[in-house]
Amino acid sequence: MKKFLNAIFILIIISALGFFWYQYDLTLCDKVLKYSIGRFDNNFGISEEQFKKYVASAELPWENILTKEKSQGMNLFKYDPEAKFTVNLIYDKRQRETLEKQKTESGLEAAENFFKSLDAKFNLAKSGYDSNVSNYDSAKAAFDLRAANYEVEVNYWNSKKGVPKAKYNELEAERAALNNKAASLNAEAGELKNLASNLDQAVKERNGAVLDYNRTVERYNQKYGGHLEFDQAEYNGKEINIYQFTDSKSLIMALSHEFGHALSLDHVENSKSIMYYLRDSQNLPATPTPSTEDLAELKRVCRL
Ligand SMILES: [Zn+2]
Repeated sequence: MKKFLNAIFILIIISALGFFWYQYDLTLCDKVLKYSIGRFDNNFGISEEQFKKYVASAELPWENILTKEKSQGMNLFKYDPEAKFTVNLIYDKRQRETLEKQKTESGLEAAENFFKSLDAKFNLAKSGYDSNVSNYDSAKAAFDLRAANYEVEVNYWNSKKGVPKAKYNELEAERAALNNKAASLNAEAGELKNLASNLDQAVKERNGAVLDYNRTVERYNQKYGGHLEFDQAEYNGKEINIYQFTDSKSLIMALSHEFGHALSLDHVENSKSIMYYLRDSQNLPATPTPSTEDLAELKRVCRL
């Protein structure tokens, strides 16, 4: 009886070991991680349905690699409203700051466009002013010459005793014409002076606005740099939390990154990797593409 019991005991141990080995042989890549949407804050400006679609897109980079490797459709993640594992969208300071950052960015862009339109207007006004000045200068030179000629003739006739009537009338007419011309040249000079001071004022205003703009850019750069560390999202074993994203691309990238952690992938090198620890928020691809390093890390974890 005792022998029989021992045999049963040994059998149990062996089958337990077998089960253990079987379990050990399974990696997270052989199971489907079912997830539901847990907390969902509306302040992000997307609907829960949209969010679900983004989460589904974020599964693809990993599932596509496996499908290719195993030459059959592989499902690593699956939405299941009953699942205990949750993906959460949580609104806090991080997203508030992101929205502030985006507001600053669109403000800066508007300022840049404003400067461009100011510059275009200024350049047009300046070239009009320049051609008016050159017209004035040649009119003034012509006037000076005419006035000098008049002067010479008046002096000539003054040195004579008496001017013929016709000549006198001619000189008087010329004097009146010169006076008229001088008055119109003076008026023109006054206009040019006004125009010049308007242009000066426009340059001063523009430069003041540029100073403000530069200060805003400096503050912006100090505050945000170019990089966002991945505390915009986290995986903690029982849930994925998303705290911050700038657009759908950065949301999907963050989700793919955390899904990678859920498969027990570690961070890898190469800033273009999904599993890189930092994310440049700019120039993200429309759908995350795994790098060679991502691929190697997935193969290691899935024992491919
Ligand atoms: Zn990470």
